[in-house]
Amino acid sequence: MTATHNNKVLIVGAGIAGCSAAVALADKGMQVTLVEKEARWRFQSSGIFIYGNGLEALRSIGVLPQILDAGFGIADGRNVYLDHRGAPIVDVFYPRSHGGAVPILGIKRAEMHRILAGRLGALGVDIRLATTVADIHAPGGEVAFSDGTRERFDLVIGADGIRSQVREAVCGPVTPRYTGFGVWRSVHERPRTLDAKIMMMGIGKRLGIMPISDDRLYIFGTVSEPAGRWYPRDQWPALMRERFAEFGGPARQFLDQLSADSEVLYTAVEEVQAPLPWHAGRVLLIGDAAHASTPFMGQGGAMAVEDAVVLARMLAADGIGEQTLKAFGERRFPMCRFVQDASRKVGEAGAMEDAASCARRNAAMRETAQQQVDAFYQALDRLRSAPA
Ligand SMILES: Cc1cc2nc3c(=O)[nH]c(=O)nc-3n(C[C@H](O)[C@H](O)[C@H](O)COP(=O)(O)OP(=O)(O)OC[C@H]3O[C@@H](n4cnc5c(N)ncnc54)[C@H](O)[C@@H]3O)c2cc1C
Repeated sequence: MTATHNNKVLIVGAGIAGCSAAVALADKGMQVTLVEKEARWRFQSSGIFIYGNGLEALRSIGVLPQILDAGFGIADGRNVYLDHRGAPIVDVFYPRSHGGAVPILGIKRAEMHRILAGRLGALGVDIRLATTVADIHAPGGEVAFSDGTRERFDLVIGADGIRSQVREAVCGPVTPRYTGFGVWRSVHERPRTLDAKIMMMGIGKRLGIMPISDDRLYIFGTVSEPAGRWYPRDQWPALMRERFAEFGGPARQFLDQLSADSEVLYTAVEEVQAPLPWHAGRVLLIGDAAHASTPFMGQGGAMAVEDAVVLARMLAADGIGEQTLKAFGERRFPMCRFVQDASRKVGEAGAMEDAASCARRNAAMRETAQQQVDAFYQALDRLRSAPA
């Protein structure tokens, strides 16, 4: 494949990565088709938090004002650490973005998708729901769609998430690795006075609270869960209550609210580390399809939007060609791997199961938690500005 001025791009998967890439590429004048296997936009319940780097990436694709409007920004970036009974451990402060946006924002996932979808419509992206790819010929970019039609693209982007089908065409079978953690999430009315991010450090468990709009917040709890265990949906509220039964403090009122009518989600956390190259022929992976992470740093969505921004810049500068696709993977791989490693370590520290180790960890956090936050964001900056 040689560099070309052709710019017909297919994106498979309309999650955060696919929608962001579609916006970023269409904004650069590329002709973008976005296919999504679901028949309707999948407006998953629950929230997501986005740190300063993710907000800057959202600014780059032109949606930051709407995101700030719809979400709940924490102006001073405060994260309050408590133990599971609600006793204070330490407060840390996340850095403000380089562009000056709030250091951290919570938003309903559905709102984020609504905003991205609105921008796709304005840019004239060809969106095909209930559609997937039946076959891809990577060297030539020929695609057979599930509706029986065939088309040729200059670039096919696999943004089809952790169980990516496109990934097979790039690097053969890569099975997501179960991390041993389950995450329980639920959405609640936000009491007016609750306006910080709170992380409660239990014994072998963590429970977070994050405002996601003026009137809503979500709570998210991580706990070890056996591999391969499936829980019927109608049991999720009761199971979430039971898993975090020992938590008091600010979480208690929300745990007490959990009932059969609550919006509860359970996710068994998996990771994907697709090896380089992230492309083969005219097919490229981005987002969770290439680098799904544990959620402890809250960076998976931000990495997906950053992928989109970096890719759009590189394609606009150098055209769709083997060298650009290779350079994209090499640029993003160290950053995404760093986030995955840091996130896994945080998860492991939160999974200590004996009270004495937890007490030592909490004491150490008073000394080191702020330094660790600062070091993490400085490392992201360094990786972002490292020469290609
Ligand atoms: C419990 C949990 C909490 C998290 N919290 C945060 C957080 O607070 N902040 C943060 O930044 N990140 C968070 N993340 C990570 C974040 O959710 C993901 O990194 C992000 O959603 C990845 O986006 P994506 O578009 O790559 O994949 P996905 O969101 O999985 O989207 C993939 C899309 O592709 C579609 N698709 C799949 N297969 C096909 C196919 N064959 N054909 C067509 N379409 C297809 C799917 O239907 C879907 O719409 C969290 C993750 C988990 C598990």
